[in-house]
Amino acid sequence: MTYDVVIVGGSASGAACSILLAKLGLRVRVIEKQPSASAYKKLCTHFIQPSAVPVLSLLGMSHLTHGAHSVRTRATFITPAGAIDPDGFYGAQGDKYALNLERSVLDPALRQQAQECGVEISYAQSVTEVQRAAQGWMLTVEGEEQTFKIEGRLLVAADGRMSSLARLLGNAQQSFENQRATFFAYCSGIAAPDDNRSLFAHHQNGMAFLYPLINGRTLLSAYISKETAKQWHEQDVKSNLVAFFAGIADMPAMDNVVFETPIRGYQDYPNLTRQPVCQDVAFIGDAVQSLDPMSGVGCSFALQTAAMLSQAVEATMQQGTVNVQRALETYQRQFNDYFPFHARGIIADALIVKDEEGHKSTFRTILNDPELQRQYRDLTGRLILPAAFQNKFLVSKIRQTASERKVLAKQ
Ligand SMILES: Cc1cc2nc3c(=O)[nH]c(=O)nc-3n(C[C@H](O)[C@H](O)[C@H](O)COP(=O)(O)OP(=O)(O)OC[C@H]3O[C@@H](n4cnc5c(N)ncnc54)[C@H](O)[C@@H]3O)c2cc1C
Repeated sequence: MTYDVVIVGGSASGAACSILLAKLGLRVRVIEKQPSASAYKKLCTHFIQPSAVPVLSLLGMSHLTHGAHSVRTRATFITPAGAIDPDGFYGAQGDKYALNLERSVLDPALRQQAQECGVEISYAQSVTEVQRAAQGWMLTVEGEEQTFKIEGRLLVAADGRMSSLARLLGNAQQSFENQRATFFAYCSGIAAPDDNRSLFAHHQNGMAFLYPLINGRTLLSAYISKETAKQWHEQDVKSNLVAFFAGIADMPAMDNVVFETPIRGYQDYPNLTRQPVCQDVAFIGDAVQSLDPMSGVGCSFALQTAAMLSQAVEATMQQGTVNVQRALETYQRQFNDYFPFHARGIIADALIVKDEEGHKSTFRTILNDPELQRQYRDLTGRLILPAAFQNKFLVSKIRQTASERKVLAKQ
């Protein structure tokens, strides 16, 4: 039996891609290493950017944007120069929103939708070998009880940051330093910020993120230097985490915080990038780019790469048959028109800024211009490319400098 598509990995990117391809009438098979449909990724703080929210309606899963499942939110940035908090939500009309959508909700829902759309998805199975076949690819799959082979015309690697398909097919990764470590935990006893804003605060050369969640809970995550993380470890992570947030004036009070989960995190998490297409295989989600989680883009980019690939397949399908070569060319081109530009900025932000005055002056320029504040938020929501923001920033900076000079000349 040869499937139209075989997808390795059934988490955010793989499950989403399987749904979209099955909706095109293709026969799709997903192989997932996790033991069951209810498993979900625990090392994730699941902020979904507005760039990815529309993918949920393509998936037929708009219900996840409602209050029973997630919290509609927008970012407020607490910077050394003041709070960047423009009116309205994201986008030119101010009507787009981000979501705090937990993986315990998203992952099982994606797999259920995949099954309802006719995707054949199996668990506790791992792809260990891949070979070219007459009509695409033959994979060796190891399960608990048996090892078997399956064939697919289009092969999709959605197998995450440590992608075994990348290793087997020689899709070499580029690795870029990330100078921060992180700790995060789910808490109760913290008041949600007005309008369920999510707060991103620059603090002590690190970042403190506070996300309101459903059922009155809150996610606290701190991105700090590796040396600070080591000190927290040697002392007490919990009390350091609370003190970190309590030390920021614009944060809700931390006096009644109760930890609902253990603290999770990592010490070292370099940015990894690979090619979107290698040896006629499509790479999506973390398998193609696994960027600093401080940027909060991983799930969004997982959903967006899944949608981009399925749209490339749809655009090149004829009479129900996929033109694999053309679909991969289209996916590669569209991927390269969007993601690497964001990745470069995120990779640069993974280094700790030493020039504090320069940093402050950048935020002052943004704060002085309400339109630039909106553009900044849209950049972090991945609705505009960094170059578009940089152009607007330069124009605004020139205007601000000119009007400062005029004021000085009058004095
Ligand atoms: C601390 C932290 C915080 C984060 N916070 C955010 C955030 O706020 N917002 C955000 O958008 N992103 C965040 N991310 C990133 C996000 O978790 C990932 O980008 C996202 O999970 C990528 O989805 P994926 O489906 O591509 O990969 P994964 O979720 O890693 O899934 C890969 C799947 O492939 C399966 N698999 C692997 N190998 C095989 C094999 N050989 N055979 C079969 N199956 C296989 C695995 O079991 C797994 O289910 C965070 C990450 C971390 C570490």
